[in-house]
Amino acid sequence: MYPKLSISLEGIENNARIIQKLCSDHGIQITAVLKSSNSYENSYLPIAQAMKKGGIHYFGDSRMGTLARMREMGFSDPLMLIRLPMLSEMEELVRYADASLNSEETTLRAINEEALKQEKVHGVLLMVDLGDLREGIEDEKELMEMAQLCEDLPGLDLLGIGTNLGCYGAIVPDEINLGRLVELAEKIEERIGRRLALISGGATSTLPLVVAGKCPRRINHLRLGEGILLARDVEEIWKVTIAGLRRDNYVIEAQVIEVKEKPSHPIGRIFVDAFGNTPSYEDRGRIRRCLIALGKRDIGDFDALTPLTKGMEILGGSSDHGIIDISHVEEEIKVGDFLQFNLYYQAMMHSIESCSVSIEYRGK
Ligand SMILES: *Cc1c(COP(=O)(O)O)cnc(C)c1O
Repeated sequence: MYPKLSISLEGIENNARIIQKLCSDHGIQITAVLKSSNSYENSYLPIAQAMKKGGIHYFGDSRMGTLARMREMGFSDPLMLIRLPMLSEMEELVRYADASLNSEETTLRAINEEALKQEKVHGVLLMVDLGDLREGIEDEKELMEMAQLCEDLPGLDLLGIGTNLGCYGAIVPDEINLGRLVELAEKIEERIGRRLALISGGATSTLPLVVAGKCPRRINHLRLGEGILLARDVEEIWKVTIAGLRRDNYVIEAQVIEVKEKPSHPIGRIFVDAFGNTPSYEDRGRIRRCLIALGKRDIGDFDALTPLTKGMEILGGSSDHGIIDISHVEEEIKVGDFLQFNLYYQAMMHSIESCSVSIEYRGK
């Protein structure tokens, strides 16, 4: 069935091994983030298994449903919910996850209550907002009080503190903001009279700092998804090369359903497209182009796809169609051909969650 998303388990294992070695050389423990797998297809299981073979033993996801299904399938390694939990999922959280990221007193009290009910202790990573302005506590006094609260509540185990950068505010992790995280961790340690197990310095966007040897020494935990699975951002956005990483682990394949020569500029009065936007078009004259049976419903946005065929250029598409300029492609493209594309994070996440895309694994 097409479109088909082909996932290289060997490639993921390879990348997990390389990133695990890099991080452990810098005293950093990894929680692998499985966001880019699909709980509906159970694709997190083979992906997590591949990461385990590569030496990673802690896992996390942003959705409680994924963690619950992993447990139901018998997955027994430690699991962390990496989105702040909802008050409506306390029962599942305590049952299935070992730890979660937190920033709200109300939620912490609710987790504690549920943990006592289930006779469990739930691990807490308090999130600190260092300027990216998504989740986390900004005020130092509030952070100290929240840490003390975790110490006082018997159903909670304060594992440490963490931060998230490069998401909403697009803030670069650096020695200053991560240095501040370490400083805050040490203030908490002074207050509670013991060492914190984890100081979590972010996600894949912190890897360039690690490679440069500039990550503050006490940062000992990262939550990594993209850097292991796709491994495109570090090289293409941050211009940092980590030797041996494979960047072709996720490939989407779509079938050609029309090949014709047509104008490149639409004819008539341009108003709104299928999504209500008013686009602009470059007039390249008449071009040879093909249509593929792959649309925004499958991949979200065509900007997040790159063709593997030389000379091919994606012009755009709509819900169910992709339109490609093949004027500069050497080989002949025919109806029925299968075209392959690499995906960026957004398209990967969209396609793996889409029930119209089938999944195939390469390598076991
Ligand atoms: C998604 C996410 C990560 C992983 O991000 P990558 O860029 O894929 O490494 C880490 N932490 C949190 C809180 C996240 O939501």
